[in-house]
Amino acid sequence: MGSGSKARRCRERIPDDWVPVQVPKNLEEMYTRWKDYQGQCVGWCLLCDQPIVSEDDLLPGSSTHNCAAGRALEAEHAQSAHADDAAAQSQEVCCEGNETDDPIS
Ligand SMILES: [Zn+2]
Repeated sequence: MGSGSKARRCRERIPDDWVPVQVPKNLEEMYTRWKDYQGQCVGWCLLCDQPIVSEDDLLPGSSTHNCAAGRALEAEHAQSAHADDAAAQSQEVCCEGNETDDPIS
């Protein structure tokens, strides 16, 4: 006894491009509209329910539609990314030293 209290506190990092998107209620409806959309588009904005025609329609450095709702989401994401950064750094510190913990002999 004694060595069983090893707490694994290191969680996997959330990828940088992970965006907490709220799934809209009419998601299926939007997908249907996207599917039925005859024009060229690289994606469908679930925020404003409009086709994303090309990558020029995306906010630079992101996969978010350049529309009012998209810009608001990106601004929010940028803020939480900063908070994420700080959290990741403190997690890295917590990870150090775990490698020396070797219960198998
Ligand atoms: Zn949009």
